[in-house]
Amino acid sequence: MGNGAIRKIVIVGGGTAGWMAAAGLSAVLADSRLTIDLIESAEIGTVGVGEATVPHIRGFNAKLGLDEADFMRKTQATFKLGIEFRDWGRQGESYIHPFGAFGQPIGGVDFHQHWLRANARGEADPIEAYSLPIVAARLNRFAPPSPDPRSLGSTFSYAYQFDAGLYALYLRAYAQARGVRRTEGKIVDVSLRGEDGFIEAVTLESGQRIEGDLFIDCSGFRGLLIEQALHTGYEDWSRWLPCDRAAAVPCDAVEPPTPYTRATADAAGWRWRIPLQHRVGNGYVYCSDYISDDDAARVLVSKLDGKAQADPRFLRFVTGRRKKQWNRNCVAIGLSSGFLEPLESTSIHLIQLAVTTLLELFPQRDCAQADQDEYNRVMDLEFERIRDFLVLHYHATQRDDSPFWIDRRAAPIPDSLAYKMDLFRDRGMIVKYRDGFFLEPSWLAVYLGQNILPQGLDPMTDAIDPVRAARALSELKTAVRRTAESMPDHQAFIRAHCDARAVA
Ligand SMILES: Cc1cc2nc3c(=O)[nH]c(=O)nc-3n(C[C@H](O)[C@H](O)[C@H](O)COP(=O)(O)OP(=O)(O)OC[C@H]3O[C@@H](n4cnc5c(N)ncnc54)[C@H](O)[C@@H]3O)c2cc1C
Repeated sequence: MGNGAIRKIVIVGGGTAGWMAAAGLSAVLADSRLTIDLIESAEIGTVGVGEATVPHIRGFNAKLGLDEADFMRKTQATFKLGIEFRDWGRQGESYIHPFGAFGQPIGGVDFHQHWLRANARGEADPIEAYSLPIVAARLNRFAPPSPDPRSLGSTFSYAYQFDAGLYALYLRAYAQARGVRRTEGKIVDVSLRGEDGFIEAVTLESGQRIEGDLFIDCSGFRGLLIEQALHTGYEDWSRWLPCDRAAAVPCDAVEPPTPYTRATADAAGWRWRIPLQHRVGNGYVYCSDYISDDDAARVLVSKLDGKAQADPRFLRFVTGRRKKQWNRNCVAIGLSSGFLEPLESTSIHLIQLAVTTLLELFPQRDCAQADQDEYNRVMDLEFERIRDFLVLHYHATQRDDSPFWIDRRAAPIPDSLAYKMDLFRDRGMIVKYRDGFFLEPSWLAVYLGQNILPQGLDPMTDAIDPVRAARALSELKTAVRRTAESMPDHQAFIRAHCDARAVA
């Protein structure tokens, strides 16, 4: 370890973000002489929501070396093949955003171009018939993807629906086993160094002072270090994503868990339904300009599948992001870094990206400006891409049944989204990213699911014989159905591989 090397990391907060950071850092740094302290306060508690994930979490768990079945049993997890969106384009409609592709290119031309051509001629089934994860989800089936890249069974991915509080506990045990020291207590003071404004130490209510070289702010919406101490500033995105509250309540499960999350558009926002092994998580994300808390809670409770297990809990937030997620020697991870609302379940993914990016750019004690800038560039890009994708859901609606939805149609959208939508509307082109979220099948699912059809086609499509393309479509549809039907029932698969009742 050189003179400038980080010797002490202090993580403030023990929610999902704090313990994911502690686990991710300790997995890599356990053998170094560096110490990691985590401070959390039971009195303050955690946000206590966040049950749906995206497939990237499997990569994070794999890097930690977690055993999937053990992790699933201990977090009451179910499998997730995508998200069903109900009533978003128009009331009564439903589509699934799957974790997987719609077909393969035919003659080098994207599959969806062939589908668009066949659809325009009245010769195609709905696009979901060509997606294995969607057909499996609709049938309530699940099996892990095939490792054989030539197999249709390899063309999808999956994520989890779990109890994020249990996940944090699971990672806590992991991190503590790798030397992370946990301190229970409430931070009442943050000391900054005179010469450069770096954070020097935090002081607890007990008087204990904990010093560090690098501070990771996982203190939730309050941003105890990044905002209250360093005054970094917040970029408010509520003009694009105006929902600012949520009511959340778990209920009894009355049916086997579906291998997908459901997001149902409602009069002033949308409701989530996330089935775990032991219960169903529910919430109503809404905009307080259009509905009161009491009415939102009433709507939420009236639409539950089973008996509510508690009274609704209310959460408030402002969508947006911190102006700098890494400022001086403080890196904000989790809700302290920003929040894009839970549609598409991206917060835990952003935590994971933050942890892995920090490890890639792991600094010296002086936290070089170039490291900070590169980290902020990567995180800013991801926040913006996710933001555009979320705004698309609200903007691409034909609903006119409530002031909220009428306003969403008319509201301005980011230029970067307008550009993507223009490209698709013209010839069905989808902006390709080299890295980052979300990839082409996701955009396609939402465009088509919310009734945006391009005016024209990729001219290359005409070079492919429509009869050949129609045959490929038909064969794919048959194979998708056959493969999905051969998968086990989702509940049966869970019972056989990761039944949480075994832990209870
Ligand atoms: C309505 C809603 C639904 C969501 N749904 C999803 C979802 O489906 N999927 C998803 O990926 N994400 C979801 N999220 C986001 C997800 O909940 C969070 O990203 C995740 O829980 C991480 O939270 P956190 O750890 O940053 O903050 P918190 O859980 O708030 O933890 C903050 C920690 O800081 C500690 N702390 C704060 N102040 C002090 C102090 N002064 N002294 C000591 N300790 C302190 C607290 O004790 C706590 O341990 C949702 C969020 C909301 C609001």
